Amino acid sequence: MQKPLKSIGKRISAIIIIAALLTVSLASSGCFPYASFDTGSDGPYEPVPTYAPGTGPELGFALEDNAEPLEIDEYDDYELLGKRYISIYDAGYLDLYFDVPSVSAAECVSHIDENAAIPEKFKELLRIFVRSIEEKYPEADLRPLDLNIRTLEIVECDEYELAIHTLSIDAYGCYVRDENRIYVPKDCEYVPGTWEYQVIMHEFGHAARTVQRSSKDLDLSIELSSSICTIPEEALNSLFTVSLFDYEERDIAYQLQSNMFLILTGCLEGYSLSDYLNHRLSYFAHLLDEQNGNNNYAMSIMKLIEEQRTDYFDENYDRGSEFYYPIYDYLAKMYVDRYASPGMSDEELAALIDELVETVMFDVPEDYDIDTDEFYRFAEEYYGDRQDP
Ligand SMILES: [Zn+2]
Repeated sequence: MQKPLKSIGKRISAIIIIAALLTVSLASSGCFPYASFDTGSDGPYEPVPTYAPGTGPELGFALEDNAEPLEIDEYDDYELLGKRYISIYDAGYLDLYFDVPSVSAAECVSHIDENAAIPEKFKELLRIFVRSIEEKYPEADLRPLDLNIRTLEIVECDEYELAIHTLSIDAYGCYVRDENRIYVPKDCEYVPGTWEYQVIMHEFGHAARTVQRSSKDLDLSIELSSSICTIPEEALNSLFTVSLFDYEERDIAYQLQSNMFLILTGCLEGYSLSDYLNHRLSYFAHLLDEQNGNNNYAMSIMKLIEEQRTDYFDENYDRGSEFYYPIYDYLAKMYVDRYASPGMSDEELAALIDELVETVMFDVPEDYDIDTDEFYRFAEEYYGDRQDP
């Protein structure tokens, strides 16, 4: 889980140290050993070409309503050379592995108590996490979380160890799925309302919907996170995390992206964050497409949201503000569809869009260079067309 940039000096020295340590680690293991969810996209490992002002690399996807429908992965289950491989991409298929139809929060809590690898102070936090899900999202399937809880380890480490595990100097913690370990900084106090509290709950959120196990006979992967669109996953996980708190928390990890997903989830009818725990991002995209009358466009918007964050962190290019208008148009359309009533005056519509802009822009760094006028321009035109087609 990441926070905005630290000072440049600290950043550069940390980059050098990580690069040196990575060289040792890669040389000794021969592969990239960590599957972290919080890996920064601004690593120093690949040379990046410099782009002319107002430009950047080509998008790796088409920014239009795709003719090809979005593929929704459900599961794979096959045997190869006497070994079974199960990959589950939706909680609806968890029965392929589990022989019980559900697991209660009480059972999760008893497995927390039995796990000696979880330090005492984290046990209490994990109990709170489980009980909050039970209370707020009774539809959520707790079986993956319970499976992880039984052998979960929580490791407190110093700044440099943490940088190695997260592969980022901006990360405050990570869950490494194939180790079933959470890494967090040493000596933190976890008090509700603090950043540290949000960090640990966010990492529990990752452990609730991803499992990786390998043995001689079985390779099990429960992978509800999408590897093609990481930042939207992070934004949803961040929203899910703060929604568990019994106080309001607007200072959210992946702030701009989480603000945008707050709008998307709020405007999407019939979507609850229990769906985040039970389904993949493609399910969310599919619901968005259905509601917005698209065939396959939502995933492109989500990829563009991810691209905007990369753009922000990458000093080598800056595509300019207009490049991201499709995101603002998409959000404004959904907001008007959801909240605008017929016959609104220009002032009333503008006041409605004020609310949207306030939510999207909450605590967003100025360097993002977001042209908020576009929300109003699009909304006026769209609302006008809707009133008078
Ligand atoms: Zn994360």
